[in-house]
Amino acid sequence: MRGFSKVFLTTLLSLLLALTFIAVSCTPAAPPESTPKLEPTPPGMINSALGPLSPDKLGWTLVHEHFCFAYPGWFADATIAPYDREAALQANLKVCEAAKAVGIQTIIDPTPNDTGGRDPLLYKELSKRTGINIICTTGLYTEKEGSPAYWETRMVFGTDLSKMISELFIKEITEGIGTTGVKAGAIKVGSSPTMTEYEKAVHKAAVIAQKATGVPIITHTEGPTGGPEQAEFLLSQGADPKKVMIGHVTNSKDINYQRSILLKGVSVGFDRLGLAPLYGVPDDVSVQNIVTLCKEGYANKIMLSHDTVNFWLGRPLPADAPQPIVQLLSKWTIDHVSRDIIPALKAQGVTDDQIKTMMVDNPKNLFLGK
Ligand SMILES: [Zn+2]
Repeated sequence: MRGFSKVFLTTLLSLLLALTFIAVSCTPAAPPESTPKLEPTPPGMINSALGPLSPDKLGWTLVHEHFCFAYPGWFADATIAPYDREAALQANLKVCEAAKAVGIQTIIDPTPNDTGGRDPLLYKELSKRTGINIICTTGLYTEKEGSPAYWETRMVFGTDLSKMISELFIKEITEGIGTTGVKAGAIKVGSSPTMTEYEKAVHKAAVIAQKATGVPIITHTEGPTGGPEQAEFLLSQGADPKKVMIGHVTNSKDINYQRSILLKGVSVGFDRLGLAPLYGVPDDVSVQNIVTLCKEGYANKIMLSHDTVNFWLGRPLPADAPQPIVQLLSKWTIDHVSRDIIPALKAQGVTDDQIKTMMVDNPKNLFLGK
């Protein structure tokens, strides 16, 4: 843990200041904003942006797309590029229509709590206006790319971080996210190639919350490694393998990497199709690996998606990136799997049944634990 002694002193000073403030101030705190009282989700139903959804209604599903996203720290740039909610809505209405045009019925948006861009009210409006089912998550990102400082400060005081974070996850799944009236339908976690202590605490919290609520865990992995370790850790804490999808296996060209995760009984997300070329993994390599894994009987453990970011908070990307990068990402769109990847899989012998298994049955079974 970085800079703890400094953090400790700063926190202690803040505490003393806060205590002094409380002592001299008798002004009562403003009443909390009213939170809509939500009914418990009926057993077997999924939390969607518009309320309980039958797993049978998921249909053709993309399991990992972001309507809006930003890395932490974007808000320091907000004087130049503040969050334009209306622009985000307009951009994502187009995205939902493009998804509908290729038959997509459900989109899972696993934007973590501690990055920018999770906007449950936006999901609600998009879903209402386009008819696309949207499921969002509760979760925390990696130590490097998330916002661990808030939590790590609490560790200094001996707080059981996993317990505290699991309370947050459980509350967002059972009672809703803040005052939005939207409940999270799944849990999102992320890990570095070698899991840090902080990330282990977050993963442990995810398993506690899964045991309490029954929702699936969707993950982010870095680079071409880390998936087997992440799966192993989640399972060692008692996660249900049928409700775990290890994400971003598209980061690796090596089919043995993907096999080593599948051998643990969990699902994998080839969920950066169109984006992985940026990391040196062309889509035709991923297609070849999916074809081989389907032949080996793994079609019931594979899900396909793009990890698109359809609206960036802060300055836009990749529009201002160098042309070769823009070129590499030319297929990073919400309809790429349907328009390009599925035809390529079929051309190499993947059957219609196997496609339906990956796009419809597997997302449903991830929620059902089948
Ligand atoms: Zn993502």
